[in-house]
Amino acid sequence: MELAKYSFGVGDRFAHQATAQLRACRMAADRGVEIIPVWNKSYREHTTIGSAPPSVRAAADAAVREEGWTLPYHVDADHIRLETVDGFLATSDFYTIDVADAIGKPAGPGEVAAFVERHPELTGRLSIPGVDAPFDMLRSDLERIAGKYARATAEAGTIYRHIKAAKGEGNFITEVSMDETDTPQTPGELLVILAALADQGVPVQTIAPKFTGRFNKGVDYVGDIAQFEKEFGEDIAVLAYAVKQFGLPANLKLSVHSGSDKFSIYAPIQRALARSSAGLHVKTAGTTWLEEIIGLAESGGEGLTLAKDIYAQAYNDRDALCAPYASVIDIDPSRLATPATVAGWSADKFAAAVRHIPGAPEFNPDMRQLLHVGYKIAARMGDRFLHMLDVCAPAISRNVTENLYERHLKPLFLTQE
Ligand SMILES: [Zn+2]
Repeated sequence: MELAKYSFGVGDRFAHQATAQLRACRMAADRGVEIIPVWNKSYREHTTIGSAPPSVRAAADAAVREEGWTLPYHVDADHIRLETVDGFLATSDFYTIDVADAIGKPAGPGEVAAFVERHPELTGRLSIPGVDAPFDMLRSDLERIAGKYARATAEAGTIYRHIKAAKGEGNFITEVSMDETDTPQTPGELLVILAALADQGVPVQTIAPKFTGRFNKGVDYVGDIAQFEKEFGEDIAVLAYAVKQFGLPANLKLSVHSGSDKFSIYAPIQRALARSSAGLHVKTAGTTWLEEIIGLAESGGEGLTLAKDIYAQAYNDRDALCAPYASVIDIDPSRLATPATVAGWSADKFAAAVRHIPGAPEFNPDMRQLLHVGYKIAARMGDRFLHMLDVCAPAISRNVTENLYERHLKPLFLTQE
């Protein structure tokens, strides 16, 4: 099973928006660009919502039937580990093997020395086509990097073999993720990681490094855009080199996690893709849940009341909601509207505060981030929330499709006219 050149991960927390999401891919396909949808949901999201992995497959299959989608589509067991993968074995065909926690853990005895012996090509001056300056990799650098990632790449091998034993070789797509960690991986580190994954026999088709800069939930990129563009281009070059050098799958490509709403790096990404003709996977999740909130609000009446109620509860519970996400949100509490203020807002005012139009006078990124991590509130509401998703479906699905197509797929993948 091969992942196509362009693929786009969508998250559908409450399993109501798969058709609206797929419609965005159809709109791109109608304009001649095939972007393969991948429905992703992590163990953590399932736990918060109270759902089980087969529900993602069921929602994806139903959307594909409804839309008459004939291109491939996938269901991603997102950020799985050995202890959480089993529930996903029956219904996923895409596995994001998360080994970030093993980065920096000590390697086994002799492992690093054996790696360095196996890879004499990695020491010295490395000229990689597409990377401006050659890398100078000292033996001591290589030992340090190999040591830092030995456990993580070995763990990827263990998890990959566990999945392979259940599903059979070649019957699923393998992604390896290292994004949920503190420090970004340099292009040189990425090269060593790919060599180690190849040694482990992991046929990685897409890899999610941690990139430079902040990827806060549901809002724009924060960081040095020129530096990001340089590193992103170098990462692409390293992947192409690793495919040839280590015999990794020819379709190996980068995966950008927390990729929704990072509008200021989309043009740099598109330029890098155009220069290299590389593929790309972009993973999004919570941006669709925020469109559900916007659609509820736009619907007015009970929908608006529910949206305000969710916000009020999230506001009151903000410390607990935000704590697990400290490294991926930046909320200034003084910029949050109080529930009492929000109670007086019109549907349009509420929607404009949450909808991600950078520079729009009413857009409130602090409020948007709080709602992003507030899906637990909706999960707790249960049927009251789910029922209103049905009642307000027209406005919600319109917003879901428009957000993915206009603000994500178009600037990332479609040639700008
Ligand atoms: Zn991730």
